[in-house]
Amino acid sequence: MMMAAGQAAVVRKRSDASEPSPGLDAPLSALRGVGERLAETLAKLHLFTVGDLLQHYPRRYEDRARFAPIAGVRDKETVTLAGKVTAVENRPTKTRLVITKVSLDDGTGVATLTWFNQWRMKQVFEKLLGKRVVAYGTAKRGFASVELAQPEWEALDEGDDGFAVGRIVPIYALTEGIAQGRLRRIIHDAVENWAERAVETLPESLRREQGLSPVGEALRAVHFPQDMAVLERARRRLVFEELFTMQLLLAGRRTTAREVRGTVFADTAQPVAEIERALPFALTGAQKRVIGEITADMASPHVMNRLLQGDVGSGKTAVAMAALLVAVRNGYQAALMAPTEILAEQHFASLRGTLEALNVHIDLLTGSRTGREKEAARERIRTGETAVVVGTHALIQEAVEFARLGLVVVDEQHRFGVLQRAALAEKGTRPDILVMTATPIPRTLTLTVYGDLDVSILDELPPGRKPVRTHWKRPAEKTAVYEGVRKLLQDGRQAYVVCPLVEESEKMQARAATELAAHLSQHVFPEFKVGLLHGQMSADEKDTVMRQFKNGALHVLVATTVIEVGVDVSNAAVMVIEDADRFGLAQLHQLRGRVGRGSASSFCVLLADPKTEDGAERMRVLTETTDGFRIAEEDLRLRGPGEFYGTRQAGISGLRIADVLRDVDILNEARKEAFAVLSRDPKLAWPEHRVLRETLLARRRSESLAVAAA
Ligand code: ADP
Ligand code: MG
Repeated sequence: MMMAAGQAAVVRKRSDASEPSPGLDAPLSALRGVGERLAETLAKLHLFTVGDLLQHYPRRYEDRARFAPIAGVRDKETVTLAGKVTAVENRPTKTRLVITKVSLDDGTGVATLTWFNQWRMKQVFEKLLGKRVVAYGTAKRGFASVELAQPEWEALDEGDDGFAVGRIVPIYALTEGIAQGRLRRIIHDAVENWAERAVETLPESLRREQGLSPVGEALRAVHFPQDMAVLERARRRLVFEELFTMQLLLAGRRTTAREVRGTVFADTAQPVAEIERALPFALTGAQKRVIGEITADMASPHVMNRLLQGDVGSGKTAVAMAALLVAVRNGYQAALMAPTEILAEQHFASLRGTLEALNVHIDLLTGSRTGREKEAARERIRTGETAVVVGTHALIQEAVEFARLGLVVVDEQHRFGVLQRAALAEKGTRPDILVMTATPIPRTLTLTVYGDLDVSILDELPPGRKPVRTHWKRPAEKTAVYEGVRKLLQDGRQAYVVCPLVEESEKMQARAATELAAHLSQHVFPEFKVGLLHGQMSADEKDTVMRQFKNGALHVLVATTVIEVGVDVSNAAVMVIEDADRFGLAQLHQLRGRVGRGSASSFCVLLADPKTEDGAERMRVLTETTDGFRIAEEDLRLRGPGEFYGTRQAGISGLRIADVLRDVDILNEARKEAFAVLSRDPKLAWPEHRVLRETLLARRRSESLAVAAA
């Protein structure tokens, strides 16, 4: 569903009628060598049209103009090696796992590529004996050996040499069923034959002023750059286009939203006072200030579009409760939506006591309730008997009819759900909207990322909170770390273990997590119950495991980053993050937020042997502070060029190449230009803005379509 939003910029039929060749919205089967089977495989990457493929930008690049000679490789150096496969063997380990060792000979020396417990690897490489292979990874140099553990690799065909070696080579995100080399050949073909048909959305004058290359040229260069300078230039143009378009969309939405008249909630003071009396604690200064900002919006005739930003544990629920009660006491219904069922249940549980004590009827609407229960709840919502409904985001898609919906609170955790918000506004009714997020993003960026929302920030934690104590340990100390964990488990506390990040595919990530869980349960914590949570499990399976962990049936939970969007388990006392330096700072902070939810002390252990100074710096920052905003600033500062994970991690729809944190300079330029264009030509009616206007319209249409289909 995300792809629909992103493709609009390039994927449009060429409107020039004299041009007979098909546009970039042609299906992938229009490409040479792409049949139905392959098209199905590519669909798993959300690639459906030629334009999608052109926007499947490289995940990273390798300079294969020259390969590192194996003889000269230094310890801990990140290298790309090329050589012939000369031997393949499987070695059992003491713990009944297996290590596959592949010898790679480049004439200067022999390197060993190793894989841990991946039974298929031996077969795969036996077929490649005598063939050339490229491997990329961080080297371990022994006295007379060079080893790359779990490298990225690619077999070279005879015919490949033109664009797989001897130049800067693009490396793409893959999915099961397509290899790097094959995908690269297909994209090369698409670039050669189709890139020039991309529609230029940026007005000529803007391009000249900003020194941006034409779209066709940029697409060509971003996939197959001659050198780094050319790549940077191409990337800048494409990033600029995405951010410029995003800013125009946000500006448009903001203007529209400002003009919309919403509900006036006349009485705000009394319900707020009522909540303050009902809560078992005194509100913090920040909570009071933010409640003031929200109720001022609610009292005004304009529809509210407000973002509440607050670190994990800052007390957003109490704020939401005040807003809910304001709606209810003024005779309206309110809905609270959470990203998952279990989070919806958690909200329901924490709101219920307080609200029912105030005689507010609250209902839970989730998929796991029986048909009859759901029908009954729907009926109560329809008649207005239910004042507050808690549910998943599906609430907006399902045919739920409200008697008088006045307020929607959306708990996004850390996702930027631009798409869903757009859908809500189109529901016919015009409820006030409050979006809550725990994403710490630098203050300087808030406005640009959430350009269509007003922002409130909860920047004070409730008193008496014990911060999570964070330690950085080397993998060599792992045994001692797990002994420490065992002591906590023996005391009846629980533990999370976060599995190392595997970037290649969700499937491989799931496999790694499964292996880690098996290892821990058999060899490290045999006396405890170890559970497993990863992204390839169904929502139901995840829910079940999370529930078991929450009610104590599991003692250790091995998980991938899926636990970022988290459920509170106040008994969880420790989180161990393996290979912590592979994660981004913001992500580590989110993960760590899963512990320290109770009143007892809790710990986070980062197991890492960072390969770079930045990696070490990230570990130090985390051990020194738990302030999400400071961490966000550091994150921005520490991001090196070539780190492309920002946008994907944030899930901002429509951005495929831009990284709002890393590309902050371009973002500011793009924002300035977007506002300049709109101030000169607010309706984008000038001829030079025609393509731009059509692009934006298509983009809005595809967003509402994507929402309808979700
Ligand atoms: P989050 O912002 O992560 O959603 P919550 O709303 O879940 O945070 O609050 C975290 C915890 O802090 C809850 O147990 C809540 O009851 C408690 N809390 C919230 N506000 C206050 C306050 N002003 N004083 C003391 N405890 C508070
Ligand atoms: Mg919360």
